[in-house]
Amino acid sequence: MTRTAVVTGGTRGIGAAISKHLKQMGYNVIANYVSNKSAAESFCQATNVEVMQWDVSDFEACKKAIQEISTKYGTIDILVNNAGITRDGFLHKSTPQQWNEVISTNLTSCFNMCHGVIQAMREKSFGRVINVSSINGQKGQIGQVNYSAAKAGIIGFTKALALECAMKGITVNAVAPGYIHTEMVAAIPENILPTIIAQIPLGRLGTPEEIASVVGFLAADTSGFITGATISANGGQYLS
Ligand code: NDP
Repeated sequence: MTRTAVVTGGTRGIGAAISKHLKQMGYNVIANYVSNKSAAESFCQATNVEVMQWDVSDFEACKKAIQEISTKYGTIDILVNNAGITRDGFLHKSTPQQWNEVISTNLTSCFNMCHGVIQAMREKSFGRVINVSSINGQKGQIGQVNYSAAKAGIIGFTKALALECAMKGITVNAVAPGYIHTEMVAAIPENILPTIIAQIPLGRLGTPEEIASVVGFLAADTSGFITGATISANGGQYLS
């Protein structure tokens, strides 16, 4: 039996590495994206991973996408809530729109997607939910009150849902990456990046593949005794 995995934001950056890794593990993978169709098509051509467009901050869009995938492949066994955005700025200079965008894309998306898949996982007595948090949700970050709140929220969400699902063979875990070499990090001003790297004991950024291997580990059938955990992969930058 081939398990089906859905990776939100699965066509670029960390999500793309996760989608590829899960496919290499033998899963049937659907990689979601929101607007960058050309990146998604190139990813699909290069990897043969099926790609699908919807906005994870939109409850009805998530419901519709999950129904379509379930009709085509049966239940979704593995859900990786990876899609995320930043809208950085000091709180006093931030707008309600920036706050709402970050909360809805990073955190409400976890509710939207889990709401759609959990019932079927409960009926099947199997499921893996892996939520991508961040080091900045663990320790806070200047200019990222919105993002840190969303990513910390993911950790609480993960623990509570893990408890709700524990008796049903469903594990729910979070991965908290440190600074990883992706477009999101490339957007950090050049003069700030060396300061960040200087704070990482390993002396370098992480790679998307190093996060993908943690997600793959948590997704495996053999990882059934790990639930409610947050696994940090941050080069030693924050020891939680
Ligand atoms: P990227 O910006 O490289 O990729 C983001 C992905 O999410 C894209 O595929 C994008 O789709 C998708 N996405 C964004 N908004 C939505 C939406 N509303 N609906 C569906 N898909 C959406 O991000 P990273 O790979 O850097 O980050 C991935 C995750 O890891 C995020 O949750 C991020 O917060 C987290 N993280 C990243 C770190 C880093 O150092 N990079 C550190 C810690 C955590 P499209 O291509 O269409 O734009």
